[in-house]
Amino acid sequence: MTRTDASPSRHALVTGGGSGIGEAIALALVAAGMRVTIVGRRLEVLQAVAAPYPDGMHAVQADVADAASVAAAFVAAKARFGPVEVLVNNAGQAHSAPFAKTDAALWQQMLAVNLTGTFHCTQAALPDMVAARWGRVVNVVSTAGLVGYAYVAAYCAAKHGVVGLTRSLAMEYAKKGVTVNAVCPGYTETDILRDSIANVMAKTGRTEEQARAEFASGNPQGRIVQPAEVADTVRWLCGDGASAMTGQAIAVSGGEVMH
Ligand code: NAP
Repeated sequence: MTRTDASPSRHALVTGGGSGIGEAIALALVAAGMRVTIVGRRLEVLQAVAAPYPDGMHAVQADVADAASVAAAFVAAKARFGPVEVLVNNAGQAHSAPFAKTDAALWQQMLAVNLTGTFHCTQAALPDMVAARWGRVVNVVSTAGLVGYAYVAAYCAAKHGVVGLTRSLAMEYAKKGVTVNAVCPGYTETDILRDSIANVMAKTGRTEEQARAEFASGNPQGRIVQPAEVADTVRWLCGDGASAMTGQAIAVSGGEVMH
């Protein structure tokens, strides 16, 4: 039987689904009729997002940087909703520092969460997708995965790594019914951005309005991207209509980055 986008039986796992872009993605996929497992380190935050959807959303605690924790999360997710058919690697952290002040710990943390976390989850998800000859992997990257920015070298290196992983896996799994894509948001209205604005205010003495305007100024549309706009791109990539899309890195950035 050919399933359609509206199939209620599809199981999506969204990392970092308790807040920001990941929460918007989880809500968009539930609205599209999928059953969604959301994963993150703060269980109470995840449970609050899942609570309104007792039959459609399930919260599982895990640290994506830890392979054993990811393996346990997939066991729990599968026990609840069956094999994961859609994986959205969204969990991420963005810490800024001048390169000269980027110590090994910050470097390792950026790689561990943003890049190795994506590796762990994708390895856990692919065998079931290959067995079913259908699967979707969508990596939430950043425009920092496509171009360089000052003061975020470790984050940028990790996100460029995720784009490379995306492109390699797209080639390796092209004939197995699995697509692998990246979605690359520009500055988006979430806690990560709010923290960055607070950081600029603390370091430069700018007002919130000035700092916010600075972040918006890089976007040709002169505004901050909304999480729902990123989520809608992810939802589309997860559907049958996007079967021919693989190995792509799609910027959702008001035209800031064109590739
Ligand atoms: P956010 O609200 O801080 O979301 C990040 C999520 O990742 C949180 O729910 C967090 O939950 C989870 N997370 C962090 N470390 C984790 C770990 N080790 N294991 C499991 N979960 C972890 O920020 P966001 O802006 O929505 O970020 C989502 C993604 O978008 C990230 O990959 C980020 O790099 C990317 N992005 C954001 C922007 C932007 O301007 N906001 C722009 C481009 C790309 P816990 O703390 O509970 O673990």
